[in-house]
Amino acid sequence: MAANAARQSLDDCPQIKMSQPNKSESTRGLDYLGYQVAPARWHAGTVTSKTTVKTLLILGASGDLTGRLLLPGLAGLLASGRAPGLRLVGAGSDPWSPEQWQERVKGAFEAAVGGADATGQAALAAVAAGTEYHQVDVTADGPLAELLATLEGPIAIYFALPPHVSQKACEVLHRDQLPAGTRLVMEKPFGSGTESAHELNKTLAALVPEDHIHRVDHFLGKATVLNILGLRFANRFLEPVWNRDHIEKVEVIFDEDLALEGRARYYDTAGALRDMIQSHLLHIMAFLAIDAPATIEERDLRDAVATVLRASSIKAPYTGSTRRARYAAGTIGERKVPDYAAEEGVDPSRNTETLAEVRVDIDNWRWKGVPFILRSGKALGRRRKEAVITFRPVPHLPKGFSGVDSPNQLRIGFGPDVLQLNVDVNGPGDIFTLDRASLVAELNAPGMLPYGEVLEGILTGDPLLSVRGDTAEDCWRIIEPVLRAWESGTVPLDEYDAGSAGPANWPTDVED
Ligand code: NDP
Repeated sequence: MAANAARQSLDDCPQIKMSQPNKSESTRGLDYLGYQVAPARWHAGTVTSKTTVKTLLILGASGDLTGRLLLPGLAGLLASGRAPGLRLVGAGSDPWSPEQWQERVKGAFEAAVGGADATGQAALAAVAAGTEYHQVDVTADGPLAELLATLEGPIAIYFALPPHVSQKACEVLHRDQLPAGTRLVMEKPFGSGTESAHELNKTLAALVPEDHIHRVDHFLGKATVLNILGLRFANRFLEPVWNRDHIEKVEVIFDEDLALEGRARYYDTAGALRDMIQSHLLHIMAFLAIDAPATIEERDLRDAVATVLRASSIKAPYTGSTRRARYAAGTIGERKVPDYAAEEGVDPSRNTETLAEVRVDIDNWRWKGVPFILRSGKALGRRRKEAVITFRPVPHLPKGFSGVDSPNQLRIGFGPDVLQLNVDVNGPGDIFTLDRASLVAELNAPGMLPYGEVLEGILTGDPLLSVRGDTAEDCWRIIEPVLRAWESGTVPLDEYDAGSAGPANWPTDVED
């Protein structure tokens, strides 16, 4: 099953009953966006969402995503025996020989072979030996449909292509050309704003039903992100204090020590706000903020996420609720990092931010007034990937204590995967002096790469770990006013040295 990491931990908890998603329920009400949906032959009869994919067709076989993330993720899945009988087909615009593609697949599978048992090794070898490559211009009307007609269904078509190419490829497809049960897998960014995401949703909805569309956000395949659900909903002590009465602020921080690393072509037109906050961090925020769902099946969980995101916004004036900055030359450890603006492929006049911070407000009963601070940046001195929940101070500290009474903090680390609860204690030493103590739990290393988890959901027809269409649009709706304000120069573009903690005038209150 997909979401294995989360489910595994919950399976151990006797109070939580896990069951297969009820797809007939999940396909009801698919017209929530008012789209014309694909015909009923996908909704009923022999081909249902549960049908396991027989062929994974990767469009963009020669690309970076395929080589660096997709194939290694698939390798882990095959090695664990969780994708039996799968056939892999690659396609791209390059005139690759079948051997070239097989070499690429074998190379990407290599790391998984060592850790696999005999069955896993056999599965990896079988897929690598049986894979084939096709040269196809997917934007032309006809060739992709002809290829699809030769493949065993159900097929998952993974669009590992530049976004405009994926869009064009979907536009030239017709639903009658898609074998029954076809799944469409779209990468981020999904559109470039609310309107284009809406148009893309309409194009896709005319091809297959919503639960056959997988909009990938691989953060949803990260074990620690999924474990937010177990932590929140399989423990009684948190829920009564998980609200505006007890929580002062919530921060979700993804600071990287990596700089541009040759990705100017993509990154310089995206920036930190679009690249990280628009998709990944809003989803982590939603997991932290949702009400307890009745089940963690796709309908209930994705409804809960959508409800929270619909209530979320970044409020004007954006000089108060947002900040942006770009790194200048500096040193990270031993590494000298050049000025971002001087990097090859960067157009400095675009004013692309490499560090972004926004305050999101969730206007509902539980969260009104609590700031959700989302921040992500590159080339920072310290790698920091975590959610920090800061509680309000105690209403009254009994007189007689000395020392500092600091607020409780719960920190959920996303790499390293660590849970930390900071509390105040008194003693030893002067028994009435308060000291800080941390309860720390290192979480088990995840068994599967995030792309492995996401792919499993795709192959088994479980859209739980995919972004739903309305949510994809809502994430753009939340950040679009900020993008406009930044483009118009309303919010200054600050500067920080690579290797620093960020601009000097941005206060940080990080507690180690
Ligand atoms: P690349 O530019 O590395 O690869 C794009 C691929 O698309 C190439 O294989 C290219 O083949 C192929 N292609 C382009 N035009 C056509 C066409 N008309 N017909 C058939 N194939 C075509 O991009 P990435 O792999 O980096 O990104 C792919 C998608 O994944 C993007 O949407 C990106 O935003 C997303 N993504 C990427 C991540 C990453 O780390 N790379 C991370 C998360 C998401 P050729 O070279 O022969 O033209």
